[in-house]
Amino acid sequence: MSKGNIGVTSNNIFPVIKKFLYSDHEIFLRELISNAVDATQKLKTLASVGDFKGELGDLTVRVIIDKDKKTLTVRDRGIGMTADEVDKFINQIAFSGAEEFVNKYKDKAEAIIGHFGLGFYSAFMVAKKVEIFSLSYQNDAKPVHWSCEGTPEYQMEDTIKADRGTDIVLHIDDEFTQYLEDATIEGLLRKYCKFLPVEIAFGKRKDWKDGKQVELDEDNIINDINPAWTRKPADLTDEDYDKFYHELYPLQMDQPLFHIHLNVDYPFHLTGILYFPKIKNNLDVHRNKIQLYCNQVYVTDEVENIVPEYLTLLHGVIDSPDIPLNVSRSYLQSDNNVKKISGYITKKVADKLAELFKADRENFEKKWDDVKMFIQFGMLTDEKFYERAIGFALLKNLDGKYFTLDEYKAQIKDAQTDKDGNLVILYTQDPDANYTYVERAKAKGYDVLLQNGELDVHAMSQFEQKAEDNKLRFVRVDSDTIENIIRKEDAAKDTYTDEQKEGLRKAFDEILKSQIKDQKSQINYYVTCEAAASDALPVFLTQNEFMRRMKEMASHQQGLSFYGQMPDSYNLVLNTSHPLIQDLISKMTEEQVSEEVEKKAEKEGEEPTKETVIKTVYKLTGEDEKLHQLIDIALLASGQLKGEALAKFVSRSVNLL
Ligand code: ADP
Repeated sequence: MSKGNIGVTSNNIFPVIKKFLYSDHEIFLRELISNAVDATQKLKTLASVGDFKGELGDLTVRVIIDKDKKTLTVRDRGIGMTADEVDKFINQIAFSGAEEFVNKYKDKAEAIIGHFGLGFYSAFMVAKKVEIFSLSYQNDAKPVHWSCEGTPEYQMEDTIKADRGTDIVLHIDDEFTQYLEDATIEGLLRKYCKFLPVEIAFGKRKDWKDGKQVELDEDNIINDINPAWTRKPADLTDEDYDKFYHELYPLQMDQPLFHIHLNVDYPFHLTGILYFPKIKNNLDVHRNKIQLYCNQVYVTDEVENIVPEYLTLLHGVIDSPDIPLNVSRSYLQSDNNVKKISGYITKKVADKLAELFKADRENFEKKWDDVKMFIQFGMLTDEKFYERAIGFALLKNLDGKYFTLDEYKAQIKDAQTDKDGNLVILYTQDPDANYTYVERAKAKGYDVLLQNGELDVHAMSQFEQKAEDNKLRFVRVDSDTIENIIRKEDAAKDTYTDEQKEGLRKAFDEILKSQIKDQKSQINYYVTCEAAASDALPVFLTQNEFMRRMKEMASHQQGLSFYGQMPDSYNLVLNTSHPLIQDLISKMTEEQVSEEVEKKAEKEGEEPTKETVIKTVYKLTGEDEKLHQLIDIALLASGQLKGEALAKFVSRSVNLL
């Protein structure tokens, strides 16, 4: 038997392991099983090149809990270690600058473990004593027993072990008895080892028989040793991909929309499968995440910085031994390999989408509404992706027809180019609310898009900015009179004097203000006169495209909060081409006004202001009810007449009848 001190430059590494690695202590199991798998793979390699001529036999790695002895054992039948090797690989964990490194990364457990090859020592996070029983594959090797109680001292001696390979026996600390529970260990194995390349057995399979759970004489194998991403795409059917998706996310009921099989050898190694999921609501978005593997060992599902942000919404796996996992996130971001990986994934995703679009457009259109958000997000945040996606990003019109931007532009060019050469794309976010406006646009022979997606407003702004001639405009149908939105010749003029119009405007303004006060509304309304079409409504609301869009964008984006805080504002347009409005103006001829002024002056002894006169004129002619009614109709047509105002409108309408 020999005794010795573990060669660390730091006086004692164990308190560090215990203390600083506390939060991640469950990864000890992953580390030990990875070592067991490595040892097994090495033996297979030796056998394949003829350096090992013995029987490989059963190579299953076994995880065994002994509740009485309070031990957890990881057993492999891999290459094993000789006493010399245990001394070299386990005892000499002396690394220059170990202490310095530990101090620097004390809050990054994974960093220490990976960087140091402290993998094995992570066992001391949960064990008060660790034993190794090992028999090397080499001829005439003698089995060795090593043990250590979490102090820098270890013991090494000969032992008896008939079977080749290594047992790592953890005497679980009283604080960590959860690691003696079957359920905990099975959970961890399923998390970290689900796709390891060597079979991992944990106990026996259980089954239900006559209402009771019985143990079968069959290993409970945790993992799928040939997960789909490690196989050739040519060998896989769509069903295989769907099946694997459910293996990854057992709780996910929906089928993925489509998949992308990644496979690169140069300039880095990366394999994986990404899925476009069907997202039903916002809650779903981050429930299932892309999982990152390193040679089939689960590492994390925090793939930010490795995958471009918009693709973190996808599901699936990425496996790469070339992603430096043991470094800080900010380092990851600047790592060249990682940048290349991210660029590659973007290209691959875009290529796949382009291919699907080309090969089966009908099917692509069917899925468009579900994938739209990913694609828009990508286009908005990644210039390169935009350039690729512009060829297959779709717009949908109110008839449910899909177009690429170029197709759509060609389609509407003749009808919807205004007199200044701007191509005006009309859209609505809510066809029901904008019904009258949509109808007016259609009556003119214009087409209207449905743009009710989360990111549509941003996407439209991007299209406008990217238009080379700067002559592309997206305008919501209710942002102005349709004649003003797509101006064909100079604005139609009416024949009224400014004074007449101002009189009418003021009268409406007055009534509107009192109504707003009643409603305690936060909305600003501005009354204007326009010579719109004679068959348009006499009074209607419009909302400035720019201001509205800024407000909408502010709700997603920091830095625009100035716009977000502004109250909503609408124009109440009095249509001077409409007979009803013309009639109202005619009720207020110059003579009437001056007659009224005279009457008032006589009665009150002083000249009244014009405004009071105008009001009086409408009152006298019994038209103020009509003004009320017209305002309410305009509000109603835009879905803004509510509560008491709506009730008043209804009873006023009944009275009028
Ligand atoms: P790493 O695995 O990062 O090299 P570890 O501390 O986990 O660091 O292991 C150190 C070394 O001990 C391994 O490289 C391997 O040579 C040896 N080793 C550990 N576990 C086993 C095992 N189960 N079978 C054979 N060798 C092992």
